[in-house]
Amino acid sequence: MNEIHQILKLQDEFFKSNKSKNLDFRISQLKKLKTLLKTNEKSLFKAIFMDFRKSEFETYETELAVLYGEINTAIKKIKTWSKPKKVKTNLANFPGRSYIFLEPYGNTLVIGAWNYPFLLSLSPLVSAIAAGNTVILKPSEISINSSHVMANLLNETFAAEYIHVFEGGVEISTALLDERWNYIFFTGSPQVGKIVYQAAAKNITPVTLELGGKSPAIVFEDANLKMAAKRICWGKFLNAGQTCIAPDYLLVSTKIKDNFLELLISEIKNNYGENPSKSDAFTSIINNKNFERLRLLLNSGNIFYGGNIDKDDSFIAPTIICPTTFDDEIMQQEIFGPLLPIIEFESEEDFIPILKDREKPLALYVFTNLKTKYQKIIDELSFGGGVINDTVVHFANPMLPFGGVGNSGIGSYHGVDGFKTFSHKKSILKKGRWFDPFVKYPPYSDFKKKLLSWILE
Ligand code: NAD
Repeated sequence: MNEIHQILKLQDEFFKSNKSKNLDFRISQLKKLKTLLKTNEKSLFKAIFMDFRKSEFETYETELAVLYGEINTAIKKIKTWSKPKKVKTNLANFPGRSYIFLEPYGNTLVIGAWNYPFLLSLSPLVSAIAAGNTVILKPSEISINSSHVMANLLNETFAAEYIHVFEGGVEISTALLDERWNYIFFTGSPQVGKIVYQAAAKNITPVTLELGGKSPAIVFEDANLKMAAKRICWGKFLNAGQTCIAPDYLLVSTKIKDNFLELLISEIKNNYGENPSKSDAFTSIINNKNFERLRLLLNSGNIFYGGNIDKDDSFIAPTIICPTTFDDEIMQQEIFGPLLPIIEFESEEDFIPILKDREKPLALYVFTNLKTKYQKIIDELSFGGGVINDTVVHFANPMLPFGGVGNSGIGSYHGVDGFKTFSHKKSILKKGRWFDPFVKYPPYSDFKKKLLSWILE
């Protein structure tokens, strides 16, 4: 723990030297990070395979490609993003010119989750570097091989006074949270998010909390059902459902439910074959604790399709749970696994009031061709972000801020929003010297008050 304190002290001194703020330095560090990842891709693929038995293709598609995109965007845009922004000056401040400067917070802490270990730890790191901060990163101890490879590569490549990785679980996390930070960026569960928020409050440290929740996908009767089944199946069973923005459950119109279930099953078979335990494209469950939690949830529901498990292989098959109601056990917690409950509805009035009473989810997906239908969902329900007629893919557009709302999180990142998240907006008004309105100065008088109200109102 002494080591944490010492390295943070070094980072504090380094930040105060202004070196991390230099734009050319930031760009060179982002390039260095990209080269490091590119030249060590094999080790990255191997670590993820050891943690999840995941294919190289999926690791590239869902982690590295998105990460490279974030780095490239930051390198290209950093000079534009960091330019002071000139804004209008109101009459009361005449004569003057107003600017917003984005300054780095300073010493930042990034705590990552296990399910996409590289992306969820390194993408905030990219934003923090781009904004000119120093970083201490703590990846999740659960995806242990990925944590090791990140610690080895980053600690060998970057000076500890600038970027350093501490590995470990609750104990290390708690020790890190005991320190005083200028910013904390946390990805994980709402339960731990509350602990992080409390720790940050001690020093009035600003936070981003990227949390989870139960994200619904809604399928209306007019949707292109085959496409909906294909896209839901992909988003749900990617990483064996261990995705914070995976559709957690489906709300399906009664009118098309039977047909839609058949289409879903056919998509599962297309993607993972008759026996998904033999599929290279299907990931394992991360550890025994999650396996057991999912096994209990599986047994509590009506298995409509799938349901096979193999503890030795940490395998749980893509499984459809139907019929399901909002009162069922599986609807009381985030599933974070390959179990897909299906709830039927006659009209949107069957679920909109219920969703309004539940915690706000991180994502929501709606499948329909009718603008009136998806517009009503957007207008009436609160959720982090979502997609019309697809799942998950909004995460991969760096132009869209990504984050939750309410129980699913505070703040957002990606692209310029990541840069802004790690920057304080410093407002500067530069006053002209050639004129100084006498009205604001004492002694006060009725005449001055009238004049002031004439100017200000
Ligand atoms: P978690 O909250 O258990 O752990 C996240 C991090 O917090 C880990 O680094 C862990 O070591 C640390 N931690 C755990 N207990 C702690 C404690 N008591 N005090 C301090 N630190 C502690 O979450 P997880 O299991 O790694 O990830 C799953 C959750 O994260 C799900 O809810 C999922 O939806 C959410 N998630 C959200 C996003 C997002 O971008 N919004 C992305 C991935 C996962």
